[in-house]
Amino acid sequence: MTRLRLICAAALLLATGTAYADPCKVTIESNDMMQFNLREMTVPTQCTDVEVSLKHSGQLSAKVMGHDWVLARDSDMSAIINAGLAAGSKHGYLAENDKRIIAATRVIGGGESATVTFSTSALQKGVRYAFFCTSPGHATVMRGTFVLRDADGIANAGDPSTARR
Ligand code: ZN
Repeated sequence: MTRLRLICAAALLLATGTAYADPCKVTIESNDMMQFNLREMTVPTQCTDVEVSLKHSGQLSAKVMGHDWVLARDSDMSAIINAGLAAGSKHGYLAENDKRIIAATRVIGGGESATVTFSTSALQKGVRYAFFCTSPGHATVMRGTFVLRDADGIANAGDPSTARR
């Protein structure tokens, strides 16, 4: 457990080092290789709203290599992906009014970008959420963790009270 917390602290440290000027605005890139450029996204707890910008640096169309960015509890990810598959490409591989989805962008193709803004009131501090792409088959590799943490999260990362579920 101690070792895990040390690894978490190290991950937070790395994430902090690459943070943008406004920590409440995060950019994530996707490409023609079916990849996101981030595996973990962290946002400080003082953000009341978070703005996530998804960019597609590839050239393939949305029909061939479309990506979206969806945020949910880790335990809801599979169900959301399956419901999205059932909804199909017309609906951007997202079921309508799926309450399990915390935030989602539209599906974009190469050269495009999409932004979604959402309130952090739906998020619990220290809980690891999942972000993923709902295009068929993509989430096997296009996925990562999203964590709301204290601004002084490095010092608090080892405090069990911040990892409450
Ligand atoms: Zn994708």
